[in-house]
Amino acid sequence: MTGMGDMSDMSETGTPQHAGEAAARAREVRAEAELRQQIVDTASEMERLGINQGTSGNVSARWRDGLLITPSGVPCAALARERIVWMPLHVRDDDPLFETQRPSSEWRFHRDILQARPEVGAVVHTHSNAATALAIHGRGIPAHHYMVAAAGGNSIRCANYATFGSQALSDHVLEALRGRLACLLAHHGVIALGRDLARALWLANEVEVLAKQYLLACQLGEPPLLSDAQMEEVVEKFKGYGPRK
Ligand SMILES: [Zn+2]
Repeated sequence: MTGMGDMSDMSETGTPQHAGEAAARAREVRAEAELRQQIVDTASEMERLGINQGTSGNVSARWRDGLLITPSGVPCAALARERIVWMPLHVRDDDPLFETQRPSSEWRFHRDILQARPEVGAVVHTHSNAATALAIHGRGIPAHHYMVAAAGGNSIRCANYATFGSQALSDHVLEALRGRLACLLAHHGVIALGRDLARALWLANEVEVLAKQYLLACQLGEPPLLSDAQMEEVVEKFKGYGPRK
């Protein structure tokens, strides 16, 4: 025995196979702890970047056959990896888990996005100011700048309004995210997706930068936009764009 794994291992003598299983379990425990810490660090980075207000933002990452998600109403400074909540990918409203755990009130759209989009490993949600200002008008971000293509197409759509935390909101979000890695939420905020937390965070910040630039450009009148052909060319070039690990 290596001493790793839980105490129940001790009743069985250390066959090589058993030691291998214990080591694999220990690796998994370490990997989960690391991912939990990355979620905490992502939330801190959102604060540093100024794209998170108070307890409004939330973050999730795919883990095994479920997801890890920030808890409800915990300010960033009080967030610790032990407080991150795990839930199965097909969790339902009446799951007993909710008797003891308090995941972010937006767990439905995190769950539904990770269910519907197998290529996505992480989801970041913010109420960043400039993007939210556009979303208050029910407006998405058009192709005013080639970087809009980083979200996967020639626009970043705005999902229709529904009450926060509701299934209706999650349904609108999935619709707005069709073929995209980001969307705005009417009268609410932003969602950005990525293969991993680093990419989702990068895109959430990029959406805010694009929204600021669009709002500034609008001060001189409705700005000219790039054509669909121009944007298609950039979308192609952008496949796999974003931060490298
Ligand atoms: Zn929100």
